[in-house]
Amino acid sequence: MKTSELLNYTEQLLDAPRFRDYCPNGLQVQGKENINVLISGVTASLALIEAAIEVNADAILVHHGWFWKNEDMRILGTKRKRLKLLMQHDINLIAYHLPLDAHTSLGNNAQLANQLGLRVEGWFGEQNIAAYGYLPDAVNLSMLGTQIKQALGRQPLIIGDPDKSLHRVAWCTGAAQDYLAQAVAVGADVFITGEASEQTVHLARETGVAFIAAGHHATERYGVQALGSHLAERFGVRHQFIEIDNPV
Ligand SMILES: [Zn+2]
Repeated sequence: MKTSELLNYTEQLLDAPRFRDYCPNGLQVQGKENINVLISGVTASLALIEAAIEVNADAILVHHGWFWKNEDMRILGTKRKRLKLLMQHDINLIAYHLPLDAHTSLGNNAQLANQLGLRVEGWFGEQNIAAYGYLPDAVNLSMLGTQIKQALGRQPLIIGDPDKSLHRVAWCTGAAQDYLAQAVAVGADVFITGEASEQTVHLARETGVAFIAAGHHATERYGVQALGSHLAERFGVRHQFIEIDNPV
């Protein structure tokens, strides 16, 4: 599979150019011209690169790549170590950030909905990356917490009355705690995201909208896996998702 073909296809699939983002989307570091083995992971950390080398990866596909807006542009320290190892093995680094949150079937929010059994009704927030919908079976907050724990394999942080009954659910994976106010505006009874900030708790208490932080990493594991599997099926490349555990 030609790297350039895979990139062109993915860019169109995710409609990547339409997003204003905090990092470049698509190819971030150029490697081999052909891809036989594609590794996916949440973050392009040193541990993921090392694991990808172990399985002879030609490309690494991630949600959190490199070269973030406002980061130090120099190649020093840990950044040099990661980049040097990647380039020594001629591995392509491909990253999709907001386009992968937003995609309506392969994206993080659509895939989190699959994991939790949520039905999507609409999208909201900056560039329409956050979703709202409902649970087919009426549940209360403590039941949803249990469901999330079972699906994601970790205990979420839950703010709100455990007996609160839930009709409309809003969610946005990752560090979207600042979308809580917008979730309130779309009439959500509960907002699920990855991380919490100190002030999120007060806003949840004062608006009466329940808040769940289910893990930044835990909520963003599924989009990149779905995209990797889709590309593997479409182009006949080998694909493997590598989980590098992260408690946040
Ligand atoms: Zn993220």
